[in-house]
Amino acid sequence: MTRRVDLRSDTVTQPTPAMRQAMMSAALGDDVFADDPTVNLLQVTLAKKLGFEQALFFPSGTQSNLAAILSHCQRGDEYIVGQMAHTYRWEAGGAAVLGSVQPQPLEQAANGQMDLAKIESSIKPDDAHFAMTKLLTLENTWAGQLLDHQYVLDATSIAKKHQLKCHLDGARLFNGAVKQSIIDSSSVWEAASKMVAPFDSVSVCFSKGLGAPVGSVLCASAELIQKAKRIRKMAGGAMRQSGFLAAAALYALDHHIERLQQDHDLASRLYAGLQNIKALDIGPPQTNMIFLAAKPGFEEQFKGFTAFLNQNGILTTGSYQLRFVTHLDVNQDDIDYVIEKTNAYFSN
Ligand SMILES: *Cc1c(COP(=O)(O)O)cnc(C)c1O
Repeated sequence: MTRRVDLRSDTVTQPTPAMRQAMMSAALGDDVFADDPTVNLLQVTLAKKLGFEQALFFPSGTQSNLAAILSHCQRGDEYIVGQMAHTYRWEAGGAAVLGSVQPQPLEQAANGQMDLAKIESSIKPDDAHFAMTKLLTLENTWAGQLLDHQYVLDATSIAKKHQLKCHLDGARLFNGAVKQSIIDSSSVWEAASKMVAPFDSVSVCFSKGLGAPVGSVLCASAELIQKAKRIRKMAGGAMRQSGFLAAAALYALDHHIERLQQDHDLASRLYAGLQNIKALDIGPPQTNMIFLAAKPGFEEQFKGFTAFLNQNGILTTGSYQLRFVTHLDVNQDDIDYVIEKTNAYFSN
């Protein structure tokens, strides 16, 4: 039987037997009445640990980001956002479609950064011609890369100087925190707190590397969460006995954060096994993602690569660039198999 290695995304993980156990035994209530003890515990726990007043559980990160943007901005306002950021490019234009909030996208450098001077010059003066700029949104990690902390401080202080609010799409916050904790020689939670401190709100996904089946949590002030709760209701995201799902997220907080390092190590192992292939343009991973492209002159050979991988049970994706993502459900043997097959393909 061919091996199946799914490197499309860290969203493909299945809940582990222990996580399923935690879900099955969760205490439940109706969360629309704020009666679900497990949802309440998740919200209180994450808010406290990340240093926010309150938190709110959402079915998806897309909805959590949407609720954040629509809570920070009114109809006719705008938010500054990266050209390739999830909150601009990958959420079906929700803020504009559903909230009449206009995005002001800015080009990002390869490390995810928008030019600081451009951030400042894109903030519109208070003039009847212009939409009112109210929010800056950043994403960390971005394409598997940890944003430089000084950059985050600089970008958010420009925003604050102009009375903008700041939102962090921290879908993979904890992948970033594991990396940041090594740089700082701190604990992962200290690193996570430091990463979110400059922001008025942060959205964290549990359905990515943390391995839960569903769910994201938005952390912010009590005032913002109250607004976000109304948006969540409007968007159809207020759930009932969702403690089932929150139990998986709570389990992940206790058991799946430190282990993200294993995913990062596997990405490094994959990189080490591929970096000498002369057809491939590939950079070293910072967390759990590798992006690959053809070096000039190898485009033709590269074209057949994903089909070859698929034939060998290796699943990948990438709308703009081919992407390999490591996660809870890939192991060292899987990675060695990908290295072997890739080398075999490009040596022909
Ligand atoms: C996955 C992701 C989200 C949210 O996605 P959902 O699939 O809606 O949970 C938001 N931002 C980033 C950067 C993501 O990768």
